[in-house]
Amino acid sequence: MLIRNIEEIPSFPYGEGASKRVIFGDQEKAPTFAMRVFDVPPGGASSDHSHEFEHEVLILRGEGVLKGAWGNAPFSEGSAILIQPNETHQLVNTGKDPLRFVCIVPLRGEDADCGLSGPSGRWRVIALIVVVVVIVGLLVWGFSTRGLAP
Ligand SMILES: [Zn+2]
Repeated sequence: MLIRNIEEIPSFPYGEGASKRVIFGDQEKAPTFAMRVFDVPPGGASSDHSHEFEHEVLILRGEGVLKGAWGNAPFSEGSAILIQPNETHQLVNTGKDPLRFVCIVPLRGEDADCGLSGPSGRWRVIALIVVVVVIVGLLVWGFSTRGLAP
């Protein structure tokens, strides 16, 4: 058994100005599901993406639209949303107050859903930067050995 206060859980940047907290997941030894809480400021949005697992979302506060192939579906406090596997989705805060929602995914989806957010996502960004720096370095070195560099 575990009781946590979400305000005491560190958050990570996510999507467009949003932040994400993993309430229960791998680190808490949850066997099947991951529970996350997202905060989206007015005008912000979660990332626009799709994946092979579902989302079960509960809007705790605020309002907005769910963007997808269906267009813009409005939601507000108390709305519960099921996003099926492979549906492209993005939650946009169109209100004037902060938007907060719970999103539950299968455990295997927690990291995969992050895109470029969370600690592992940061490592992916760092790895990408290292690769770009190495490629640019090799190009500059290649040009300089041919005497084409300025
Ligand atoms: Zn998603």
